[in-house]
Amino acid sequence: MIRFNIPYISGNEQAYFDEVLKNQKFCGDGGFTKKCHALLSQKLNARKVLLTTSCTHALELSALLMNIVEGDEVIMPSYTFVSTANAFALRGAKIVFVDIHPDTMNIDERLIEAAITDKTRAIVPVHYAGVACKMDEIMQIANKHQLYVVEDAAQAIGATYKGKALGTIGHFGTLSFHETKNLHCGEAGALIINDEKYLERAEILREKGTNRSKFIRGQIDKYSWVDLGSSYLPSELNAAFLLAQLEKEEEVTRERKNIWKTYYEAFKSYNLLEKFEISEISDDYGFNAHIFYIKAKNIEERQNLINHLKMKEIQSVFHYIPLHSALAGSIFASFNGIDKHTTRESEKLLRLPLYYGLEIDKVKYIVETIYKYFL
Ligand SMILES: *Cc1c(COP(=O)(O)O)cnc(C)c1O
Repeated sequence: MIRFNIPYISGNEQAYFDEVLKNQKFCGDGGFTKKCHALLSQKLNARKVLLTTSCTHALELSALLMNIVEGDEVIMPSYTFVSTANAFALRGAKIVFVDIHPDTMNIDERLIEAAITDKTRAIVPVHYAGVACKMDEIMQIANKHQLYVVEDAAQAIGATYKGKALGTIGHFGTLSFHETKNLHCGEAGALIINDEKYLERAEILREKGTNRSKFIRGQIDKYSWVDLGSSYLPSELNAAFLLAQLEKEEEVTRERKNIWKTYYEAFKSYNLLEKFEISEISDDYGFNAHIFYIKAKNIEERQNLINHLKMKEIQSVFHYIPLHSALAGSIFASFNGIDKHTTRESEKLLRLPLYYGLEIDKVKYIVETIYKYFL
């Protein structure tokens, strides 16, 4: 069976684990966490990056930092992972969805302004598949209406927009290091803080509402409860594993792009494009090849194709069921405007195997199998 994903292993994880065992420092914010922070800030050219236990928790931290309260409204696409909405719904915000661009599955920035009310506090663009949203336009709208922007860059490590790392353009950005992402440590994430003024409070909220970070740096002689907060920092074991992966970011991204391009060129050469669509993302998008997907004509045809591929030992998977059509979506959210593309496109989208180490021969076999299916 060609699996949809095999989580990446760099080879240095074990050596770093051994170091953690030797150092006998296991809880968060030790040497490995510091190294991850330094490497990520340098790589992303970010003001400040804090590791978190997940991207979900990084999103929650952003909601706390923006003081989101009951009755506030937050605008985002419905085509996203539950955490994008949950983090703000947890604070009592109403989630307002707008439609997406069918070609990238990203929020359609032209629809945002119509969804803004006097209760709107933030816009949360999601960089689906590591492809950038139209950030210039989104930042312009946010500035005009004095709104926060939180980039859900969960899938976007190694991806850029006009030369800037995704996650470093809005007020906050969030990364995921879940094992389904390009780089991972099982479960973790990071909050990118692009405005210095949130830094001190971010450290406090992340450390159970205490000023322990200052204490560790020797800036105060005891720490205490000073604000709201929770436990959002991963252990040194997670950080050690993650460091081994972050050090290979460029190699992983390069390899994934190579696989992505092999898919793209093979599909193009078969000239089957009236049977299904492939995404027309090119390298100048600065994407990180997180996902390669095709779009079947409709949900039935997609299911038939999934079944066929399974018979041929190929695992393929669809993705998000739009949040506004989910049970919790009907309670905590509403869709602004018409759902012209979100449901339709989500029902067509099918993700094909893509992971570091996937052999080119297998990619060609997958493309050929799909070609023959449609013949
Ligand atoms: C994976 C993902 C998340 C959640 O990441 P975790 O680290 O598992 O919490 C959030 N948003 C998007 C768009 C994702 O793809």
